[in-house]
Amino acid sequence: MVSTLTTYIGLRLCFLQLVLQAGKLAIERGWAINIGGGFHHCSSNSGGGFCAYADITLAVKYMFNHIDGVKKAMIVDFDAHQGNGHERDFLGDERVFILDMYNRLIYPGDNFAKQAIKRKVELNHHTTDQVYLENIRRHLPAVLDEFDPDVVVYNAGTDILEGDRLGNLDITPEGVMERDRLVFTEVRKKRGKPIFMLTSGGYQRNNARVIADSILGLHREKLISNPLEDSHVTSELREQGASLAQGSGGNEGET
Ligand SMILES: [Zn+2]
Repeated sequence: MVSTLTTYIGLRLCFLQLVLQAGKLAIERGWAINIGGGFHHCSSNSGGGFCAYADITLAVKYMFNHIDGVKKAMIVDFDAHQGNGHERDFLGDERVFILDMYNRLIYPGDNFAKQAIKRKVELNHHTTDQVYLENIRRHLPAVLDEFDPDVVVYNAGTDILEGDRLGNLDITPEGVMERDRLVFTEVRKKRGKPIFMLTSGGYQRNNARVIADSILGLHREKLISNPLEDSHVTSELREQGASLAQGSGGNEGET
């Protein structure tokens, strides 16, 4: 029992370390994606919504404290749920701009945390692609120009997908791909800002497939490069990447 718990804690700390490294990587290379993070209901002093550690808060604070040139960060939270964890942590912090778009009728409904949201987009049950994507086109370019962040943390939950009983929205797989394409286009292609994506919540069997298709779409559109093709990647990293690709799994954890 003790060894199981120790292993669990060790694995979680390992995932957390990977989230911090992904933030650093995004600054160095322009983009990074961590498929195990996005626990946005956990704040620095309280867990919630299946979220045991505040990885978004830690990643942003790590970048502020350890990476030169990162003085302002934007959190773009497009998971189906309100990201009340990082919101509680950055309430009143002028270095952080939070854009949060979520289903207003589901968990957590944290009105105190909502005070930290600088651009709030509240959706109703069964919101469709058309309304969802139009909100992104209306709000995302405007806040990027207004705040001019040094880095964007993109919490890209796929619990917005149709059929997700926790998210209760009606976004199609094509809508998810278009959402991610819009975000990377506005942040990275049009403005040249580093972006750090976390895949966050999603509770259906097709989530992993949709996430994979979306990331492949970003690569096809040249919004991200293939890390294994970069000239400065060492042979050791190439081997690690190849073995990870062979053993890849799905998305898990509620957020
Ligand atoms: Zn969620």
